Amino acid sequence: MDFQLNDEQLHLKKSVREFAEREIKPNVMKWDEAGEFPLATIKELGKLGMLGMIFPPEYGGAGMGYVEYVTAIEELSRVDGSVGIIVAAHTSLCSNHIFLAGNEAQKKKYVSKLSTGEFLGAWGLTEPSSGSDAGSARMTAVRKGNNWVLNGTKTFCTNGHYADVVVVLAVTDRAAHTHGISAFVVEKDTKGFRPGKKENKLGLRASDTAELIFDDCVIPAENLLGGEGQGFPDAMRVLDGGRISIAALSLGMAEGAYDAALKYSKQRRQFGKAISDFQAIQWKLADMATEIDAARLQTYRAAWLRDRGGLVTREVAMAKMAATESAQRTIDRAVQIFGGRGVVQGEITERLYRDIRALRIYEGATEVQKLIIARELLNEARVHEKNR
Ligand SMILES: Cc1cc2nc3c(=O)[nH]c(=O)nc-3n(C[C@H](O)[C@H](O)[C@H](O)COP(=O)(O)OP(=O)(O)OC[C@H]3O[C@@H](n4cnc5c(N)ncnc54)[C@H](O)[C@@H]3O)c2cc1C
Repeated sequence: MDFQLNDEQLHLKKSVREFAEREIKPNVMKWDEAGEFPLATIKELGKLGMLGMIFPPEYGGAGMGYVEYVTAIEELSRVDGSVGIIVAAHTSLCSNHIFLAGNEAQKKKYVSKLSTGEFLGAWGLTEPSSGSDAGSARMTAVRKGNNWVLNGTKTFCTNGHYADVVVVLAVTDRAAHTHGISAFVVEKDTKGFRPGKKENKLGLRASDTAELIFDDCVIPAENLLGGEGQGFPDAMRVLDGGRISIAALSLGMAEGAYDAALKYSKQRRQFGKAISDFQAIQWKLADMATEIDAARLQTYRAAWLRDRGGLVTREVAMAKMAATESAQRTIDRAVQIFGGRGVVQGEITERLYRDIRALRIYEGATEVQKLIIARELLNEARVHEKNR
């Protein structure tokens, strides 16, 4: 077993860290307070090859694996979770759905431009009445000659207002339930499609969370992704990859909180000593570092398994749940170490405390991860029993 990143991966980690410190850190609070989408920075990441890391060079990507991708998301999110989620939704949801399910022409047309940042992508599964129960989607797609006509509304779509391309899931055969849901690529400016309300969120405020409205939106038949009825199973495969990036996002945010808390605890003096001299503070730092280490091991194991092409649903769900839940605890401890300053606007802890909250909900809430883990465990037990 080897728990080390190799030289190339370490070089990548250092480059992303330097970029984040130089280009993102000075702007984080401004973007957060204004709810400003950092489009220029995202485009810059595209030029550096960071928006298509997991795709082969023939589709404009960097030809790297999930371990490298996770390293980059972790480093970006250490400085700003909003940038992390923008890159993650673009890459592992929108682009990856087209990459996994699309035909050669679709991959050439879309993934190539998404990988370089020429296009920005969004992915729409959630609807007002279907979140955790995504299979109960209502949005419809009806075939009319050489076209599909889309009608319905998606909610909570990351990057929705800025996306050049969106992948959406819609019902093509209601009677077939989840096997009657198909995926489509829709380009911005298509008649009948418009982003709607922008959500004004507690945290991750520089990321865009949008409603997508489809009102007799006509798209060509060739914009169907994968086979008819294949959209939902493909979306589940997409989420298996996506959730690794959410684990990495929360890992990075927990590391940002730990770094700040460690530094502050050495500077802040009470009762004639640095507060890091108090055992109560040392125990908090020890708990934070231990939980971060566990999250890192689970996140990187999921990425490593994914790169080897194995079935990783259980490991990904475990990593997503453990990393997001422990990051919330780590950030809470950082607020406590900062004392009163911890809740003051402008302090990193105050922003992280708001930013982390959505990650326990997004891409399958913790409760849903538990359902997935339990389902996988019980299936495994059934197979063992059969083979005994
Ligand atoms: C910042 C942000 C960005 C997002 N980006 C995207 C995106 O890009 N694309 C997209 O499609 N969606 C996106 N989402 C939507 C997100 O995936 C959903 O919010 C999530 O799946 C939960 O759905 P819901 O909000 O409808 O909650 P609900 O499904 O209504 O759940 C409410 C509560 O009930 C619990 N619950 C539900 N079912 C069960 C059950 N069977 N057993 C136990 N508990 C249960 C949930 O865990 C939760 O605690 C985003 C959400 C946020 C907050």
